[in-house]
Amino acid sequence: MNDNDINKDYSCMDDYDPNSILPDEALKIIFNNISALTETESIPIRESLGRVLANNITSEINVPSGRNSAMDGYAINAVDLPYSGKISLKLVGSSFAGKPSSVKLKKGECVRIMTGAIMPDGSDTVAMQEIVERAGETISLGIGIKAGSNVREAGEDLAIGDLILERGMELTPADIGLLASLGLAKVSVYRKLRVAFFSTGDELRSVGDKLDNGAIYDSNRYTLYGMLTRLGVDIIDMGVVKDNRKLIDKALSDAKGQSDVLITSGGVSVGEADYVKESLSKYGEVDFWKVAMKPGRPFTFGKLGSTYFFGLPGNPVSVMVTFYQFVQPALKRIIGEKPTVPTLLKVPCISKLKKRPGRVEYQRGVLEYDEAGRMIVRKTGAQGSGILRSMADANCFIVLPLENSGVSPEDLVDVQLFHGLV
Ligand code: AMP
Ligand code: MG
Repeated sequence: MNDNDINKDYSCMDDYDPNSILPDEALKIIFNNISALTETESIPIRESLGRVLANNITSEINVPSGRNSAMDGYAINAVDLPYSGKISLKLVGSSFAGKPSSVKLKKGECVRIMTGAIMPDGSDTVAMQEIVERAGETISLGIGIKAGSNVREAGEDLAIGDLILERGMELTPADIGLLASLGLAKVSVYRKLRVAFFSTGDELRSVGDKLDNGAIYDSNRYTLYGMLTRLGVDIIDMGVVKDNRKLIDKALSDAKGQSDVLITSGGVSVGEADYVKESLSKYGEVDFWKVAMKPGRPFTFGKLGSTYFFGLPGNPVSVMVTFYQFVQPALKRIIGEKPTVPTLLKVPCISKLKKRPGRVEYQRGVLEYDEAGRMIVRKTGAQGSGILRSMADANCFIVLPLENSGVSPEDLVDVQLFHGLV
């Protein structure tokens, strides 16, 4: 396809701007221009939840360390098991978890054994206590016990030399348990990222301030705070900066020195872009993009010295959409996390959705079960980029591709769950 063909394809799209780039392309450019942190730190395993592992973990021990019983019962040798009828065995000792028996089993003998206790020498099978009859120091067993049953082999969970956890994974509660099983008190993770942010706008007030005529409360710093907290980064809240060149200059130069990443919201739409652009160009290399998406069209990415810069639009929904689509995957890369593919579900949409071709839209939806138990999605109320409630009421984005020109009830749509985004 040459350029002309592309224009021809898009010519029927009334919302398409030939100077814009697709969201996928924007993300690719961002990925190509960032690199992962290399500094690591060693921290106690209890503090490692959600942190990114900085090296492979290989097992140096067997877990469990020895063959042990998976049941309460009697340790026996399978050669004693009867082909028919019943057999009696003599009880010659007991083995408890943490208190192994020193007995070596001979023919016709058994040892009382508890879950987790080491199998005595000469035994290879555990008969569950529920299927055994005991009279004093003698037990009797029937048929139906399989040789080797109810025994956990040494190293069956983790064996010496096994690769247990891989560099780049985000540590979960189960992973922390595995580290503890290996006896590791500390683990090496990538250092925390320092992320600064500020809001721009003369109309913005912080919570606690009085709301004078025409002013609005700043919500972007609060949604950003929440989204960043979930990523486990160190947060530097720089407050509200007025639409004033000097103040923006100062905020940018402050952030440049103290953070790995700076995120701003507002002030990147056409009216205000020029002087923000001027300020930004003093401190680094920043590109202003028109991304063919809705909401969130004006978007800025670049570097101020060694600090990555993301300039998000001002509208509260646009902030969240551009954060989830671009900033969050970028931050995950910077903190060394392995790339993952966003999970998209295809489900019937029961609402009628309005859309003009030419942009990728991220409408806000609720994924749920209908009365027939079928998984469906419906839109939340009004979808304006200033209506933050559409995010709060939603549990997913309904992602509509560039060429889509609206959805009729029962059409299949792509859904990106918020749950998978955080
Ligand atoms: P801007 O991109 O600065 O032109 O802002 C676009 C719209 O988003 C305007 O209606 C702003 O009042 C609003 N807005 C900008 N920043 C914030 C914020 N931090 N919290 C709430 N609304 C905002
Ligand atoms: Mg503004």
